[in-house]
Amino acid sequence: VTDARRDFAHKLSTRIIRDNQAVMVEDLSVKGLARTKLAKSVHDAGWGRFTAMLAYKAARHGRTLVKVDRWFPSSKLCSACGTVAESMPLKVRSWTCPCGAVHDRDVNAAINILAAGRADRLNACGGTVRPAA
Ligand SMILES: [Zn+2]
Repeated sequence: VTDARRDFAHKLSTRIIRDNQAVMVEDLSVKGLARTKLAKSVHDAGWGRFTAMLAYKAARHGRTLVKVDRWFPSSKLCSACGTVAESMPLKVRSWTCPCGAVHDRDVNAAINILAAGRADRLNACGGTVRPAA
């Protein structure tokens, strides 16, 4: 099972890096999540190992890997109007924004992470777009 998971992670990460110039991921606190009731899901998905593979393969192939801040409200933020929902328990898989947009939780989060990752990239002069933290 371990070998099958590692093989899958290698194949998927290689394909993602080969097919895209820039890849945006959410910088999840894997160690923190592993201490919660989500531990089994986090370890099963191998998220930490997978993002590490994406990082070194992106460096090897000259691609850009952007890690979006873990506190960015990717799931709660409406990708259509920018409203941030007050709470969003994990069991909520789809939701309707007051603006009328109906969101699948994961698709909405992916749209928001892509937008945030693009905003985080370096500008033409090589400087960061956002001020340093
Ligand atoms: Zn909205």
